[in-house]
Amino acid sequence: MDKPDCAELEAILATADEYRATEARLKALKTQGSAQAQALAGITDKRTRLAAATYAYWFAPEINASDLAFGATGRAHPSALNKLMGPVSIGVNCERCDRDLPITSRTQMKAVLDGVQGVARFAEGYRVICTPCREAVLAARDVAYREEDRLRSERQRVLAAMPYADYLETEDWRDQRDSFLSCLIDLRHTDLGCETCGSQGHRGVFHRSLDRLGAGDDLILLCAPCATVLQGAGKLAGPPCEGNQLKASTEQRIVAAHDARYDCGPRD
Ligand SMILES: [Zn+2]
Ligand SMILES: [Zn+2]
Repeated sequence: MDKPDCAELEAILATADEYRATEARLKALKTQGSAQAQALAGITDKRTRLAAATYAYWFAPEINASDLAFGATGRAHPSALNKLMGPVSIGVNCERCDRDLPITSRTQMKAVLDGVQGVARFAEGYRVICTPCREAVLAARDVAYREEDRLRSERQRVLAAMPYADYLETEDWRDQRDSFLSCLIDLRHTDLGCETCGSQGHRGVFHRSLDRLGAGDDLILLCAPCATVLQGAGKLAGPPCEGNQLKASTEQRIVAAHDARYDCGPRD
């Protein structure tokens, strides 16, 4: 290719040359810094050696932490140095106990500074917290989950012991039925027809088994004739009754919620 003769092109090429030279220089500096960090090993006084590595670790972040760790401790993993350095303060307090947050590594410092600028990363509303507080928060969550779990199991036992028709009167049943219908309509992207024949006629939501009532009901949406057939074949649990029937108002509510989620616009 012939090189056009113009000053604009010469300027571009000169910048590109400078760019390459600078990159080569940066690479050389990196190698140099690496060697200098490892040369810390030559300081015979242990305290001076550690103090120098610690200072460089915090005030020369361009220098590789593994090289500093190797120079100071003989081990190339940064944690070898982090342990010996001890924590520093960057003037950020734990948002739970309000004590100064001890910083032990560059990675943690970055995370804390990012955290302080960002939104709360903890459901409890904290952005940054110290290790003991983190452990306390997690322990408290654990207690809360266990309690929820206990209440859920207890509720499941109560529901399982109820007569079927009574279960179909509970809020638990309505939640199970609604989430089942929502999933069904999301899955099929269509109206709620019978799962066997597609009929829009009299439909009901039936149980295929009575396991896990109120916590993951095993359900099927059927029109009346299909329900009769499956009931006769012993494929439905619990005698079909009034509570199984899918009311028009329920169907409309589920369809409207689906349309709102997917912004489908009004249906015909
Ligand atoms: Zn704390
Ligand atoms: Zn059917």
